[in-house]
Amino acid sequence: MRNEPVKVGVIGVGHLGQHHAKHYKKLSGTNIVGIFDTDIKRSKKISERYNIPFYDSLIKLLKEVDAVSIVTPTKFHSVVAKICIENGKHIFIEKPITKTLKEADELLELAKQKKVLIQVGHIERLNPALLALKTYNIAPTFIELQRLAPYTSRGTDVPVVLDKMIHDIDILLSLVNNPVRTIQAKGLSILTDSVDIAHARIRFEDGTVASIMSSRIAKDEVRKIKLFQPQLYATIDLLACLTEVYKVIGNKEGGEMSDLVVPFEYNKKMQYIAYEKPAIEKVDLLKLELKNFILSIKNKEKPIVSGKDGRDALKVALEIQNQITQDIN
Ligand code: NAD
Repeated sequence: MRNEPVKVGVIGVGHLGQHHAKHYKKLSGTNIVGIFDTDIKRSKKISERYNIPFYDSLIKLLKEVDAVSIVTPTKFHSVVAKICIENGKHIFIEKPITKTLKEADELLELAKQKKVLIQVGHIERLNPALLALKTYNIAPTFIELQRLAPYTSRGTDVPVVLDKMIHDIDILLSLVNNPVRTIQAKGLSILTDSVDIAHARIRFEDGTVASIMSSRIAKDEVRKIKLFQPQLYATIDLLACLTEVYKVIGNKEGGEMSDLVVPFEYNKKMQYIAYEKPAIEKVDLLKLELKNFILSIKNKEKPIVSGKDGRDALKVALEIQNQITQDIN
């Protein structure tokens, strides 16, 4: 493990990038050298707010750092990331990794050549409500994922599938360790020129089926997952940070550690449903994600969400998006 602090920079300090800068400033083992944004007024504002130097050129910033966060709008991810990797910098790139699969593949290949690390900002992977499932034997047969958000103009440079649904696609691929067999998708535009509401049914090679629904024009924010498998049902509320698990157990003693055990009779045999609500501590996911990035660099380890993970989620997202577009046209 390297001992000296990792020197970092943040590229793009808009709505989200400012928080990257804020967290790096306080993160141990990290030295935030500076920020760069093509909007110089924005750069100055964030520089003053967090007392971090701003740079008027990306190349000047890259000369001073080991690693960067790329938090520009998605359409610029590929071009900015390429420059950073070519200059030998580790990159944390916000989701989606890029707009096209070709761009993602180029970045992955370049990173391999330059021996640098790519982490992708699929932040929900660190959500403790999701991590709470790790203590259970999770092998879902059917999964339902729902993500709704009120409209904001941010993120509308890409369809809802690439902006919102891709979070759930990444979660899904991390839960079902199996290749996708078929996808059926439907979507529509309501407020923007691209797709605002989308639904996809994904079937995996092992028969697991997922239903994903995303909207960016909802009244309220919702981020929920329901997961079904023989003898187990789990609900996860990613926003409320709440996980609830119901499992069938053969005898009452098996539920000693559970919050509630309810008996039921089936085929003249008594069984029990154990209800468990794992204790979950709310955490700042972005802070945790950036800490993981820094530790992955220091320990030369694979980050929690690798460039390949980001690329795999993008591949599924683009297939969904292509189907929707073909259906609309
Ligand atoms: P934003 O528009 O608020 O900020 C983007 C900033 O990048 C702006 O200040 C802009 O001036 C700057 N910029 C544009 N082109 C640039 C370039 N070539 N070099 C340097 N700076 C440049 O956008 P945002 O909402 O902060 O989103 C940024 C990225 O973060 C997007 O990829 C988005 O998908 C992602 N995001 C992820 C999450 C998440 O949950 N992980 C949440 C929100 C946004």
